[in-house]
Amino acid sequence: MLNSERPRLDWQLLIEDIANEVSALKSKGKVADYIPELGNVDLDAFGITVQLLNGQRYSTGDYQTNFSVQSISKVFSLTKAFSILKDELWSRVGKEPSGNPFNSLVQLEHENGKPRNPFINAGAIVVADCIMTNTTDSLAMIIDFIRELSDNKTVSIDQDMLQSEKSFGHRNAALAHFMKSYNNIGSEVDAVLDFYFGHCSVAMNCEDIARAFLFLANHGIDPISKKRYLTASQAKRINALLLTCGTYDAAGDFAFRVGMPGKSGVGGGIAAIIPGLLSICVWSPGLDKYGNSLAGVKALELFTTKTGISIF
Ligand code: GLN
Repeated sequence: MLNSERPRLDWQLLIEDIANEVSALKSKGKVADYIPELGNVDLDAFGITVQLLNGQRYSTGDYQTNFSVQSISKVFSLTKAFSILKDELWSRVGKEPSGNPFNSLVQLEHENGKPRNPFINAGAIVVADCIMTNTTDSLAMIIDFIRELSDNKTVSIDQDMLQSEKSFGHRNAALAHFMKSYNNIGSEVDAVLDFYFGHCSVAMNCEDIARAFLFLANHGIDPISKKRYLTASQAKRINALLLTCGTYDAAGDFAFRVGMPGKSGVGGGIAAIIPGLLSICVWSPGLDKYGNSLAGVKALELFTTKTGISIF
C-alpha cells in the first residue's frame, strides 16, 4: 500500500489499545534479580512512547517513570566506539548472532577471546575498553552523550543500581579477565568494569530512550537537532546488528514476531526503530527466559501487526 493510501493512524489510540491488550502478560514475566537492585521494581509497571521523526510523540502508562536501561546502553557505547574507531572496531568484536545467553562464557574460549557481537556482555565490555583507550573520562563522556541524545540534561546513573551491579558482577568480571588473557582488553579490568557497570546503571524513561534512538531511524542524524552522530553506512550497520543480535538468543524470534531492529535490557526496556519513520520504547519489568521483557515484546509485536509497519 502506498503511504498516501494508508488510512491516517491514530497513534495515541493504538498504543492505548496495545497497553490494554498486553496488561494480563505483565505478571507472567519474572523480574531479573541476579542484580539484586533490579528486583526492587513494580512488576505491574508498563509504559510506551512512540517518537516520530517529525517530532511528534505519543505515550501512555508509566512512560515518565525512570528504570534501569541496562543493555540498552550498549547501543550508546557502540555508537561512540564506532564513530571513534570506525571499522577498526571489528578487529576486536564480531558481528554475528551468538545464539547463546547474553552473559555466556562458553563461546569465548572457542573463539579466542573475541566476542561474537557488541551486544552480548563480553562484546560490550570490549567496546567499553575501546572507548577507554581513546577518551579520558569515559563515563562522564558517555553520560553527556546520552543526555544530548535524549535531550534530557537530568539523565544520570542510579548509584544504588551501580553498587548492586558492582557487588554481584562476578560473571562480567570473569568475562573481562578471560578476554584480558587473550589481549582483547587493554585497560585494567576493574576500570573497564566500572565504566561498563556505570553505563548499564543509567536510569531513563520511555520518552528519553525513544528520543535517544531517533538518529538510528534517520541515517545517523538526529532529525530534530540536525546533528550527525554516525554516517548513513554506520547507522545501517548498527541497525543490522540490532536486528540480528539486539535481543540475544531470541533475536530470530524477535525478528519473526516484531520485525524491527531493537535492543532490550534486563531492566525490562526495549527500544526499536523503523528507518525513515519512528523510534519506540516500551517498558515492562517482567522478563521472559531470554532476559527480554515479556509484555514488551508482545506490545511491539502488536504494534507492527496492527499498523502493518515493519522493516519487512
Ligand atoms: N548490566 C547487565 C549485565 O551486565 C546487562 C545485561 C542485560 O541487560 N541483558 O548483566
